[in-house]
Amino acid sequence: MRYISTRGGIAALPFQDAVMMGLARDGGLLLPETLPSVDESTLDLWQQMSYQRLALELFSLFVDDIDRQTLEDLIERSYARFSHPQVTPMRMVGDFYVLELFHGPTLAFKDVALQLLGNLFAHVLAQSSGFMNILGATSGDTGSAAIAGVRGKPGINIFILHPYGRTSPLQALQMTTVLDKNVFNIAVRGSFDDAQTIVKRLFGDLAFRDQYQLGAVNSINWARVLAQVVYYVFAFLKLRRLGKSSVDFSVPTGNFGDIFAGYVAKQLLPKDSIHRLILATNANDLLTRFVQCGDYSRGQVIPTMSPSMDIQIASNFERYLYYLHEGDGAKVRDDMEHFAQTGKLDLSRFRERTAEDFRSHSVSEDETIATIGAVWREHGYLLDPHTAVGVRAAQECREDRPVICLATAHPAKFGAAVQKAIGRDPDLPPQLAGLAEKETRCEVMEADAEAVRRFVASHALRG
Ligand SMILES: *Cc1c(COP(=O)(O)O)cnc(C)c1O
Repeated sequence: MRYISTRGGIAALPFQDAVMMGLARDGGLLLPETLPSVDESTLDLWQQMSYQRLALELFSLFVDDIDRQTLEDLIERSYARFSHPQVTPMRMVGDFYVLELFHGPTLAFKDVALQLLGNLFAHVLAQSSGFMNILGATSGDTGSAAIAGVRGKPGINIFILHPYGRTSPLQALQMTTVLDKNVFNIAVRGSFDDAQTIVKRLFGDLAFRDQYQLGAVNSINWARVLAQVVYYVFAFLKLRRLGKSSVDFSVPTGNFGDIFAGYVAKQLLPKDSIHRLILATNANDLLTRFVQCGDYSRGQVIPTMSPSMDIQIASNFERYLYYLHEGDGAKVRDDMEHFAQTGKLDLSRFRERTAEDFRSHSVSEDETIATIGAVWREHGYLLDPHTAVGVRAAQECREDRPVICLATAHPAKFGAAVQKAIGRDPDLPPQLAGLAEKETRCEVMEADAEAVRRFVASHALRG
């Protein structure tokens, strides 16, 4: 399988190059040249498989430049640190299913992809005797999952900026208590946007970027999407075993990465296996407006209690746009340029097509709290606020078939929202319980790109 750009401006690449490139050089996102599909008899075989084995079969459809044994080993190691033997277990809560994606080392679904991405980077670098310096900014979850994915790996240093004092205390500790020599936490005195702007500035300096082989771990990396396809298929197969041949998924959405993986799974499986993807948003309802009216237009970011979904530009949306334009890269490029200039796209002519794929609902803060409270009282099951947005949207949009709600974070990561909903703090799982007593390491700095550049330069790996 080879990989092309959504904007049509690069020669097709093998998988490993696509992973290392992240963003395509023409500014587009990478996608497989064709989307594979599987038939019912393949599903009969897959239905019996463990999570890891299913991941191997799925990856084999998209990866032909890593041998099967190596791929198997990469997958095994990536999921060995999950605390549940099924990696992403599913349970029934009332009349819906919850797919728990938070059993990884940092208790959010980003571990599913970033554990694998860390191992893939290390594999590619070991083969080429190369090195990379990962640089990123985080408002919370992504940073700790990225650090957990690459800590201790040879050939990789990681620099993660977070806004000083503005993440939750637990989120900061999940990063700063990692003492491996290749991990550098930088707390900047400023907002997440300040941190993000510094990172963009340093990536924009091409000489600096090349000299230090800067790498990114943001959600546009194709390997992250691919790793997420696995749990959609895994969950669907569990219900197929029970005789259910068509399901809906509800997905708490921010950057459109997770739900785009659902779209790939929908294309891969026989028609109607995945009937609809329910795109759940909080008050930041850009994508809900798109699904409901074909209006894709940027607004102001509104802070909510589901902060990982507080976005106004969905960085993976361009991938879906590519399919709406039936693979015409020039049209994608025109649209994205228009959006960059005006902050708006009118996609209403695609509404019928979009309605085949998605339903959507935007969930308020009050509804989020009420949903956590109601599910706790009625079923004794505790939702985190992101998952609660998905559950509430599912209640609104589901049709007459089973619905699987993705649980994207452990409730203990968002104790304040839980406290508000049920009147007490959630129990801390062992990964979080001892954090406050642990030793920490973190560089606190002004929000100044030059200071960060000097710090990175003096601690970076170099050729
Ligand atoms: C990142 C994140 C999301 C949003 O996922 P996208 O792929 O950006 O749409 C939802 N919930 C949690 C807990 C997250 O960390």
